[in-house]
Amino acid sequence: MNSFITLCQQSIGEEHVLLDEFDLQPYLTEWRKRATGKAIAIVLPATTEEVSALVKLCVQFNINIVPQGGNTGLVIGSIPTRTSDVIDTIVLSLRRLNRIRSVDATNNTMIVEAGCQLHTVQDAATQHERLFPLSLASEGSCTIGGNLSTNAGGTAVLRYGNMRDLCLGLEVVTADGEIWNGLRGLRKDNTGYDLRDLYIGAEGTLGIITAAVLKLFPKPTAQFTALCAVNNIEDAVSLLHFTQNQCANKLTAFELISKFALSLVQKHFPHLSNTIPTKSPYYVLLEISEYKSESEIERMNQLEMVCEKAFENHLIQDAIIATSNEQAKTLWQLRESISEAQAKEGKNIKHDISLPISSIANFVQQTDALLQQAYPTCRLVTFGHVGDGNLHYNVSPPIGEDAQEFLAQQNQINRIVYDSVNQFNGSISAEHGIGTLKKEELVLYKSATELNLMRAIKLALDPHNIMNPGKII
Ligand SMILES: Cc1cc2nc3c(=O)[nH]c(=O)nc-3n(C[C@H](O)[C@H](O)[C@H](O)COP(=O)(O)OP(=O)(O)OC[C@H]3O[C@@H](n4cnc5c(N)ncnc54)[C@H](O)[C@@H]3O)c2cc1C
Repeated sequence: MNSFITLCQQSIGEEHVLLDEFDLQPYLTEWRKRATGKAIAIVLPATTEEVSALVKLCVQFNINIVPQGGNTGLVIGSIPTRTSDVIDTIVLSLRRLNRIRSVDATNNTMIVEAGCQLHTVQDAATQHERLFPLSLASEGSCTIGGNLSTNAGGTAVLRYGNMRDLCLGLEVVTADGEIWNGLRGLRKDNTGYDLRDLYIGAEGTLGIITAAVLKLFPKPTAQFTALCAVNNIEDAVSLLHFTQNQCANKLTAFELISKFALSLVQKHFPHLSNTIPTKSPYYVLLEISEYKSESEIERMNQLEMVCEKAFENHLIQDAIIATSNEQAKTLWQLRESISEAQAKEGKNIKHDISLPISSIANFVQQTDALLQQAYPTCRLVTFGHVGDGNLHYNVSPPIGEDAQEFLAQQNQINRIVYDSVNQFNGSISAEHGIGTLKKEELVLYKSATELNLMRAIKLALDPHNIMNPGKII
């Protein structure tokens, strides 16, 4: 082992191979502090060639590799999880591989390294009067490599797609240390199997993404935001279609929030409580982006028109339309504070699921009823990117009852929720991935054919099984 460490130090510099227990901890502790791992070392290469050299050393010494970006993943995928007595894993952090290599405003693309934080990439696009639209609450910490490896979603998928849709090409260090340069900024390239699509969403189990060509878009000239009260989820889905018919792809966000989710924000963020309506069972936060000149926009505020017509058609009961950027920010804060409000309320059982949009209302009605039958006092926190069919469908313990006792029933609760998801042809992981958290569920809900194809891909691309072992399959 000593010779392995010495060779790593010679490859990337002694100071970039962390060995001290104290230095290792932040890289070995999962974001929500649900798990910690063990590793021989944390290695921090700064170039693709250094990544390649390290992977070749790992193959030679039969050492496992956990690639890591910002360590904000939510499925316990970015830390080592093997429990054997022998510590045989390194964490390969991409944080130092963080340059914007180039911006091609004419081609509407940029080439960035995997360790660039998402907010840095957004800022670099803005400097060139372009938009990189991926938007997550973790954007101050997560990295492009992590976003690609989890095929991240967020609030702008409705208009711009998820990370897979925002990437035109990749540079990858394969599991045997070879460098594949697929950094082409092409929107059309039908030359055989799509290798890029294999590495996107692979959660570091097939190779290490070192750089990517990302798509850029025109920046909106203005954005309008409203919070609309709706009677039920059916009306929320009708409002989605209505707004899409009126505004086409100018609709850039459509988020559902239940009354109970808002009440948690009210409880734990009292400074926001003046702005929080709580009469309706559900609310929709919608955003329309305009790409016209300011004078054209002034003549016609499309969001006001949409809300007026939706009100006349009884789709919405009420609406708060933001009249300033400040007010729009506050409305978004309500949505973005839900996860933290839930964390302050205590532990809960989370489900990041997706469904055909046409089935969302029936799914919620059926699954709420099943849960309430089995656990009459449980509290359901329902919100999410409903414009993409993605719900965060979380189950909180009853007030005043033993939370640990309730959480011990996680497997039974998951079974009710995921069986229902499966019945409606949905997915048990909409945007966070599988990691180790949903590994057992994956086997229950994928067909044998799908699982065999996935195993064959893993074996072909990572024949030594050193890439993030124990994750996904
Ligand atoms: C507050 C908060 C809000 C969030 N909101 C959203 C949301 O709205 N939508 C959403 O989709 N996610 C969300 N997430 C989850 C998380 O931020 C995303 O999954 C993000 O894409 C992970 O990026 P990261 O750099 O932190 O990756 P990490 O957590 O470091 O890694 C994630 C996975 O990717 C692998 N990996 C990382 N870098 C590479 C690489 N270069 N090559 C190969 N494999 C690699 C890791 O091994 C691991 O399996 C949220 C998380 C938090 C904490």
